[in-house]
Amino acid sequence: MSDLTAPKGTFDVLPPDSARFLAVRDTLTAPLRRAGYGYVETPVFEDTALFARGVGESTDVVSKEMYTFTDKGGRSLTLRPELTAGLMRAFIEHRLYSGPLPVKLWSVGSAFRYERPQAGRYRHFTQVDVEALGVDDPALDAEMIALADQGYRDLGLTGYQLQLTSLGDSTCRPQYRELLTAFLAKLDLDADTRRRAAINPLRVLDDKRQQVQDQLVDAPLMVDHLSDTTRAHYDAVREHLAALGVAWVEAPRLVRGLDYYTKTTFEFVHGGLGSQSAIGGGGRYDGLSAALGGPDVSGIGYAVGVDRTILAVQAEGLDVAVPAGVQAFVVPLGAEAKKLAVRLVGQLRAAGVSADTVYGDRGLKGAMKAADRSGAAQVVVIGDRDLAEGVGQLKTMATGEQVAVPLGELVDRVRATVGA
Ligand code: AMP
Repeated sequence: MSDLTAPKGTFDVLPPDSARFLAVRDTLTAPLRRAGYGYVETPVFEDTALFARGVGESTDVVSKEMYTFTDKGGRSLTLRPELTAGLMRAFIEHRLYSGPLPVKLWSVGSAFRYERPQAGRYRHFTQVDVEALGVDDPALDAEMIALADQGYRDLGLTGYQLQLTSLGDSTCRPQYRELLTAFLAKLDLDADTRRRAAINPLRVLDDKRQQVQDQLVDAPLMVDHLSDTTRAHYDAVREHLAALGVAWVEAPRLVRGLDYYTKTTFEFVHGGLGSQSAIGGGGRYDGLSAALGGPDVSGIGYAVGVDRTILAVQAEGLDVAVPAGVQAFVVPLGAEAKKLAVRLVGQLRAAGVSADTVYGDRGLKGAMKAADRSGAAQVVVIGDRDLAEGVGQLKTMATGEQVAVPLGELVDRVRATVGA
């Protein structure tokens, strides 16, 4: 046994479970593709400065959890802890804002955070990321939320809840921030918490410790101090959500992990996951582009955790379509038949039928076992006598029924039978 194992906090996705991983990932992204979002890939590492500015210095993600390293050229690089910053960097660098707006983008891939691993919290995980940039329209906020919701629904999930609030914007947040800061100044908080509060006092509302929460009962809440415009925006978002049939609960203390959110902010939490209950979340971040040196345009986005969504699917005992191996399997008996089998499998695959055969010297029994395990509905057995007669034996595994089919007709026959 080798002493090399996957690094702490990471895991491998292996067959057959990997089929579930792909099905969940693709189900979560299908609604985006149907809604006109374009696929983007960005590097898994970026300049460290991008995350410091784009995620926020007061966040745990930036202050404690980044995988930062110096490359051989002396540059400070960081493995992306989330995908939004990279997409925004690309949006600015390639001046996508000079085309039609909104720019709707999505991506999916690895994210890395040096967190304390536990169920649902890993150091390497997969996020689906979605952004709509350049337009500040509450209908777009509602579209975003509805798209995330649709992905969960398409998986059959029901045990989740959408938490929603508004974090205001530059017209009202500064005043609220002062109110909150004055409130926090009177509390008994440790030095570390005070430092966080100095950078972003809203983060204190998110503190999980009971002795902190007990002191926050009467804390002023942003939703009670929204300006007329941000209130109207929030009202419109809720009206559109209701029209889209999306249910939510008001979550006035919701502060998400990242610093840059404004106005609409939301999180999806699942009841079956224990403490790591967030399966996705996002919000509007109207200052982010400008903070990264881009134009002052608005944006809204969200990220869904694929791994945690899989845990939610399992917690609800859902049977997410796991494809059953191949549709057809070819069993050759003898060297001549083997040559034919190799060709036949190639032809079947080219014709759109998923197919496989045996490799190595397995004998009839071993080969039939492999055919059985493959999940194939149709098995073609070709022996020496069949070759002489120019046929293959086509066996329907469910019934055991077997018919001789001329070799030249096998591909069409199998294709018709499996409905490929
Ligand atoms: P965040 O960027 O922190 O808002 O995360 C967005 C989503 O990614 C969360 O709702 C989780 O589903 C998922 N996620 C975040 N951190 C982790 C992690 N360490 N392990 C697994 N999933 C995560």
